[in-house]
Amino acid sequence: MTVGIIGGGVIGTSCAYYLAERGHDVELFERDDIGGGTTAASMAVFVWQAVPPSEFAHELRRRAWDEYSVFIEDGELEYTQTGLLHVAWLDSTLETYREYADSLRDAGIDAEILPDAGPYDDERAVGALSTPEDGHFDPVAIAELYAEKARNVGATIRTGTEVRGVQTESGSVTGIELADERIPVDAVVNAAGPWAVDVAGMDAELPVRRTAGPIVGFETPDDADTEIPFTLFENELYVRRYAKGLYVGHYNTEFRADEDATPTTGDSPDDDFERRARNLLTELGFDADRFRRETGWIGYRTVTPDGLPIVGEGRTEDYYLAVGMSGLGITRAPVVGQLISEAVDGESSPMLRQLSPGRFE
Ligand SMILES: Cc1cc2nc3c(=O)[nH]c(=O)nc-3n(C[C@H](O)[C@H](O)[C@H](O)COP(=O)(O)OP(=O)(O)OC[C@H]3O[C@@H](n4cnc5c(N)ncnc54)[C@H](O)[C@@H]3O)c2cc1C
Repeated sequence: MTVGIIGGGVIGTSCAYYLAERGHDVELFERDDIGGGTTAASMAVFVWQAVPPSEFAHELRRRAWDEYSVFIEDGELEYTQTGLLHVAWLDSTLETYREYADSLRDAGIDAEILPDAGPYDDERAVGALSTPEDGHFDPVAIAELYAEKARNVGATIRTGTEVRGVQTESGSVTGIELADERIPVDAVVNAAGPWAVDVAGMDAELPVRRTAGPIVGFETPDDADTEIPFTLFENELYVRRYAKGLYVGHYNTEFRADEDATPTTGDSPDDDFERRARNLLTELGFDADRFRRETGWIGYRTVTPDGLPIVGEGRTEDYYLAVGMSGLGITRAPVVGQLISEAVDGESSPMLRQLSPGRFE
């Protein structure tokens, strides 16, 4: 079967690899560079710490990790294990985190409750949920690796190629429209990230909303101790270390039916956000006045009402969706690609049913 994939982020390239590995003729179309969209904007943390935890959330992670761990062992991907902290400022939050820790441990995930904010001097902290195995990747490296693996098993990856539309006949997919070419295909996978809802003109009704995620990167002086875990706070800010210092970002994965951000490229967080980020660092005990804003960008998460991705055949025959990653597309990429390849082959499974596009109807 010839399968056209729209989008060359971590999700589209993962789909390309698993489909091509199963023997399909895969053509992936990316209008920019591989991994240049949301994937490049990501913090790329593999998040073991599902909050709230659920057996299904753990199952998705375990399946994804089974694949990532092979790439790491083979030296194809680098993983920086930093641990992950959820810092509680309220007793009620800490109580909830205690329950989460029990549930995470029951699922075999190393989790503990700290009596404070770990490495920070955060006076508001009443404790924290810690999972030491979380860590981050280079997100573009994952997409590039999947693209390379896909090519090695016969896929064609076309960058700088925008998809203008999807052609259908009698309710099923027949082709992909480019600016000056029509590519006949038997199936299409929409993996266009935050642009997925407009790209093929078929998904405007999908329950997917985009939320803006600003990030500022601060270059820190050599004597600043930045060996910190990826840390999330109750005011929806987080801190992650990187080669030059510390990123501070804002996460918003809540689905609000009447709120939808328009994804743009090249935007940078405003001075107000930088001030909030600096305040947080100061409150954590850093000498933030000595930190220099080195970089900054805004990425767009795609969120769904139940926080789970939408994976599987949509309303049109042979038209598949791999969208709505709800802020966890790096963590979920391998399993989403595998599930799409199963769906295209007509397979069904409890996991596919739980993620099916039809579940919201
Ligand atoms: C700030 C931020 C931090 C995040 N941190 C984490 C994290 O720590 N851990 C985690 O697991 N997840 C994280 N995520 C989520 C994760 O990054 C995303 O879920 C994931 O990158 C989505 O990948 P994608 O391939 O679906 O989308 P994208 O990477 O956006 O790929 C879609 C591609 O489609 C292309 N495209 C669009 N329209 C067309 C068209 N018409 N024709 C051809 N190509 C087209 C775009 O150019 C783009 O490259 C974060 C997200 C953000 C925004």
